[in-house]
Amino acid sequence: MLTGASLAPLKSRVTADEAPLYGYSAESSRVERQWEEKMRAIPDPKNLRAYMERLSARPHNVGSPYDKDNAEWILGKFKEFGLEAHIETFSVLFPTPKERLVELVDGGPHFTAKLQEPPVPEDPTSNQTAEQLPTYNAYSIDGDVTAPLVYVNYGVPEDYEVLERRGISVKGAIIIARYGKSWRGIKPMVGAEHGAVGCIIYSDPRDDGYSGGAVFPKGPWRPPEGVQRGSVQDSSVFMGDPLTPGIGATENAKRLSIKEAQSLTKIPVLPISYADAQPLLEAIGGPVAPREWRGGLAITYRMGPGPAKVHLKVFSNWDMKPLYDVIGKIPGSTFPDEWVIRGNHHDAWVNGAEDPISGMVTVLEEARSMGELLKQGWKPKRTIIYCAWDGEEPGLLGSTEWVETHVDDLRKHAIMYVNSDSNSRGFLDLEGSHTLEHFINDVARDVQDPETRLSVWKRAQLHDIENASGTDDRRDVRDRHDLRLDMLGGGSDHAPFINFAGIASLGIGFGGEDHGGIYHSIYDDFYWYTHFSDYDFVYGRALSQTGGTAIMRMADADLLPFQFADFADDVKMYVREVEKFANQQRDEIQERNLKIVEGAYEASADPRETWVTPKKEDIPPHLNFAPLDNAVETLTRSATEYQKVLDRVSANGGAVLASASLNEVNALLIQSERTLTTPEGLPGRFWYKHELYAPGTYTGYAAKAIPAVRENLEQKKWKEAEEAAARVAQVLDNESALITAAAAKLSAVAK
Ligand SMILES: [Zn+2]
Repeated sequence: MLTGASLAPLKSRVTADEAPLYGYSAESSRVERQWEEKMRAIPDPKNLRAYMERLSARPHNVGSPYDKDNAEWILGKFKEFGLEAHIETFSVLFPTPKERLVELVDGGPHFTAKLQEPPVPEDPTSNQTAEQLPTYNAYSIDGDVTAPLVYVNYGVPEDYEVLERRGISVKGAIIIARYGKSWRGIKPMVGAEHGAVGCIIYSDPRDDGYSGGAVFPKGPWRPPEGVQRGSVQDSSVFMGDPLTPGIGATENAKRLSIKEAQSLTKIPVLPISYADAQPLLEAIGGPVAPREWRGGLAITYRMGPGPAKVHLKVFSNWDMKPLYDVIGKIPGSTFPDEWVIRGNHHDAWVNGAEDPISGMVTVLEEARSMGELLKQGWKPKRTIIYCAWDGEEPGLLGSTEWVETHVDDLRKHAIMYVNSDSNSRGFLDLEGSHTLEHFINDVARDVQDPETRLSVWKRAQLHDIENASGTDDRRDVRDRHDLRLDMLGGGSDHAPFINFAGIASLGIGFGGEDHGGIYHSIYDDFYWYTHFSDYDFVYGRALSQTGGTAIMRMADADLLPFQFADFADDVKMYVREVEKFANQQRDEIQERNLKIVEGAYEASADPRETWVTPKKEDIPPHLNFAPLDNAVETLTRSATEYQKVLDRVSANGGAVLASASLNEVNALLIQSERTLTTPEGLPGRFWYKHELYAPGTYTGYAAKAIPAVRENLEQKKWKEAEEAAARVAQVLDNESALITAAAAKLSAVAK
């Protein structure tokens, strides 16, 4: 077992013949590498542990005394480290439970759900019951309903197709869905669209419980009475405070009334444990659920409806609560108006040692490292902003309200936002804007993995090779110079930056080796983390090193290290995927129609059971994706041209980069992500302005590429999909024009 003892740096010294960093001259690269190495030696696991113990000592949800206390403590730390820091406050709608009831009133022995997570003797913070938020789903509307129960599996749209085939309707029913597969807010949303009157969400032990291993406190997995809290605010149109869509929730902001708020659920929702779920599920009759629907409880999973009849009651206190965002600044010495931003949230559902404190402490230690370098004489060229967000859990409130308040300035000045949110042992997980793909790959090559002593990049690559889904995928990972970034979805504070403001963003963190089931429960605390996760905090240190390197390298670069060759290659892949999806969709509908005509469904159905034959659908027309294909080609040409110029400029030490004024080129590069946005945003989703990525309307966390085209296809709006393709093509053409202009300016500077 490795200890927290410090490891030898990956490169013991900077060699003269080392290739310069991307966007740097040989000389400035040499200087930068020395500062970066100094930085990476600073983060200390002991500090990470001490910060975590302090920040997770008490429940610290939005509006709680310890939430404010933590914000003030972080403020003090930022100041102590040498940052110019302040707290920025907002006022948001944050409901907390007043009345909760789930009761089986018919179809089985009367049963009232406990809705309570018991303290565990060996876990010293699990008994802080007076400060713990009860188990609930925030932004569920108030309601009192009694209705038959229907089991809907994960409660995503495909599950309703299965129900329909069996002739089961959820109209007038309460649905019970298991956690997983989608963001939780999708489940009541889709349920309500199908006519359900209430929604219960539970953690099934197959996905989150004893199927994974020993349960807490013996092991890390979810115990029978553990419950996942969480927001169910409808985030398909916008994120943040429900009363101030698109604008900052400042003291005097113009607010909607609660009645006007569109993002509250349409039906009451409550989360429960698997101990509470079992008697309810057991009382459901009707057809046996398909194999893929069956969870890990020792019961026969059936779909209903009824005879189980449930009484569900949810009432909240609809209060306004303050948010405390902590903002710390290091002013840039040369380009103070160019901002590099780093953040993690500090609020939790309960004690939140893992989510979010395991990430927050690495960002704090990163800020301390920057402070140390300042004392040693380092002067970042650009302004660095460290942020500790409040209110992420209820709906990215703190980051969203801050971005909305400062959006005009951010669109002028912000170069990059780097987010973290939780950290554990394992592999570096890279997500983000593909204009930064090459940049963050290079950063990852310079950080050492604490367990294997490979670079974290190499370990991630080898892990991807081992887990590739096929030969093509494996070849791509092996042969491509950079690992592809996953798209950012809706799950954390990067969303307002990339989706609303069009700021190039990254999400970084380690994971994949520590597992467990304490997410959003009272057991996510210091005891759990220091027994079952990165307890020697060496991956915490690796994350500080990764984040710190990225922030410094962006802040000090001569030429902003955006790179478009990777980007164009990724966009090409996404365009191909969406075209492939359209073809698959056509094939599937054709095939289904044929089976209907042949009578294949009827002949295969057991006549003693209910089976409903699907209806014939119109075959989708062939759509015109030529504008997209042409735009990708233009984009690829511009990217190649830019790379050629940059290679020429960088030759022989790239002295030009260090000496010439690159202000005009950098000014264009800063806008390169903004150019991918449209002011009106995606169709029906004004807040989501980025045309290349957005969290899916029906997936929530998981991102969709080229969402306007993709989601219109999914909703079978063919004409709209084609129109969207043309609009996205225009956006890509604008991006190509910007890249070409940057290449021309760079070329002129070199002359
Ligand atoms: Zn989090």
